[in-house]
Amino acid sequence: MISAVQEATCTVVISRGQSRNPKKRGLEQGIADEIGKINGVNVLTIPHLYDLPKASDSYQQLSQIEGDLVVVSWIYSRAAHWILDRNGIQGQVGLVNLGESEEDEPDGAVTDDANVTSTDPEPESDNLVVDRVTDLYPRPDRKIHCIDLKVENDPQAFLGEIKRILGMEASPADTSLPIVGGQLVQVEEQTSRRWYPVIDFSRCTNCMECVDFCLFGVYGVDGTESILVEQPDNCRKGCPACSRVCPANAIIFPQHKAPAIAGAETEGEEGFKIDLSQLFGAPKKNEDPIETAARERDEQLLLAGRDTIGIDEQLKKRQADLSSSPKDGLDQLIDSLDEFDL
Ligand code: SF4
Ligand code: SF4
Repeated sequence: MISAVQEATCTVVISRGQSRNPKKRGLEQGIADEIGKINGVNVLTIPHLYDLPKASDSYQQLSQIEGDLVVVSWIYSRAAHWILDRNGIQGQVGLVNLGESEEDEPDGAVTDDANVTSTDPEPESDNLVVDRVTDLYPRPDRKIHCIDLKVENDPQAFLGEIKRILGMEASPADTSLPIVGGQLVQVEEQTSRRWYPVIDFSRCTNCMECVDFCLFGVYGVDGTESILVEQPDNCRKGCPACSRVCPANAIIFPQHKAPAIAGAETEGEEGFKIDLSQLFGAPKKNEDPIETAARERDEQLLLAGRDTIGIDEQLKKRQADLSSSPKDGLDQLIDSLDEFDL
């Protein structure tokens, strides 16, 4: 039985790594100890958030927390945000200045495309930007700041960033006042390693290609006819095939070794956010991503004792239809780069 997190100014959530690596555990503990000294700030430590089922005690605790949230974990910030989202912990992407950055929207601003900031020029009329799921179903106004633990080794670096997020930068580092601290809650529950796709709904256009492509019943639709990872544990471990056929680069496998597929992103010039999967995470040179995806799917079909299907006519037709659909901001960026023959 665990106690509920008590009311406090803010809660910092620490998602532990999957391994027992003492260095990782030391960093997690170091951050918890430092944050726990800040007045009114609670610390909730949970197992790895990707492995936890929605009905877990950890997500029950998280669902009781209102207001902004800071979450530190061993996965890319974008991956962490959308894992939380699929488990009902929803909000806007909060700005993080440590390591990779997440774009913080100005108050009230809604962009059509996660790859393009709100300062981008209006799209050309013949290149209309398609709706994303978050445009149709906006998330709550609260900010969720996800910090990637892989970017630093020093707990003080994380402490500084968390204080900045909490607006406590001006607090004296050393004080003669007694340290009261918040509440420290550690949730211990058994988890096992999982492998399933996570959808970035700020990119997803609800095109349903992933439902048609996956032959293992992972995807479904919800009551609003929106795409849903319905049976995550049906996914075949280690295979990222559907991430290659998603035209919006919206499918993340947080544990994949290629940073692009695991949710990394970086910011290019003029505020464009570039999805590395377009540049570095694509299959080997001259290898068509659709061919790669079909091959990976065939490998999994064989392992499951089923017949392979390769690139069937339906897949070809769907991909042709999708490539003639309105371009998104990233497509436009890639087209511009192509023009420069980069
Ligand atoms: S293929 Fe990508 S964009 Fe299309 S519904 Fe699936 S996740 Fe969304
Ligand atoms: S990786 Fe393969 S099994 Fe898993 S969801 Fe994608 S297509 Fe389905």
